[in-house]
Amino acid sequence: AKARGRGCFARFEPWMEDRERERAALESDLRSAIREGQFALHFQPLVKIDSGEVAGFEALVRWDHPTLGVVMPGEFIPIAEDTGLIVPLGEWILRNAIMQAATWREGLRVAINLSPIQLRSPRLMSQLVTAIAHTGIDPGRIELEITENVLMQESEANVALLHKLRELGVRISLDDFGTGYSSLNYLRSFPFDKIKIDKCFVADLEQREDCQAIIRAVTSLAGTLGMDTVAEGVERKEQLDWLRQAGCTEVQGYYISYPFNIEELSDGRPLDGER
Ligand code: C2E
Ligand code: CA
Ligand code: CA
Ligand code: CA
Repeated sequence: AKARGRGCFARFEPWMEDRERERAALESDLRSAIREGQFALHFQPLVKIDSGEVAGFEALVRWDHPTLGVVMPGEFIPIAEDTGLIVPLGEWILRNAIMQAATWREGLRVAINLSPIQLRSPRLMSQLVTAIAHTGIDPGRIELEITENVLMQESEANVALLHKLRELGVRISLDDFGTGYSSLNYLRSFPFDKIKIDKCFVADLEQREDCQAIIRAVTSLAGTLGMDTVAEGVERKEQLDWLRQAGCTEVQGYYISYPFNIEELSDGRPLDGER
């Protein structure tokens, strides 16, 4: 079940009450899951819109629960955040995504999602430094994705942190752009390399002129500020074509590739994307 249907506007649904019970059960299982190695990273390509070349992959965590099967991050990341378990889980994700990327060809980037809670952890910087030193990866190949709500809280501390992260040579992407409460003004005060336009705008772009106008405005502003733009959730050729003429630099979505388990590539097992 997804908490959000198509588009940017969530509704209350009856099944949301069951989710509360589900949540309590997941919370206790989550504690042992890290220790027992139940997490896996799937990777989804980010493709340059002009050349079709793969620019990199976004790491997306999945929980292979012993009885429930695969649990998606939308279900357990919020629980991990509320319980603080996101700190050790996030560390595992960071280390594994970087180790994985270090085996890819030079130039291919890895995009890693960071929770706002991880940004507050004093261990983040040393975790990154250690992973970079350990793998010898070019830090320019690491993109850290943060959501715009991070900018609202503790914004002074976060500006300083983002600058420090950038001094390491890593790149910073602003994720889910357009879904939070930030103003376009934030784009001037934070050192982003990339803006990811949320998939809700892409989902509705063929029906809604307001979505088209927002995407056009963001790509043009980003271009002026020297930032790249990625459109997420591209599911159809028509969307891809529209985004190309709108001046987006990269795309990501099921139309290009589902996220997949990279380890299955080297196992010789048939590539089984999600869905
Ligand atoms: P996100 O960062 O916005 O990630 C993009 C989500 O869109 C992923 O869902 C991806 O599978 C999905 N997606 C990709 N292409 C399409 C498409 O064409 N159509 C549609 N409808 N969806 C598409 P996923 O993997 O379920 O992750 C959901 C969210 O959970 C992520 O949203 C991110 O906020 C969070 N998340 C995932 N992995 C991590 C992680 O390693 N760490 C943290 N802190 N959060 C994560
Ligand atoms: Ca992301
Ligand atoms: Ca996103
Ligand atoms: Ca999201």
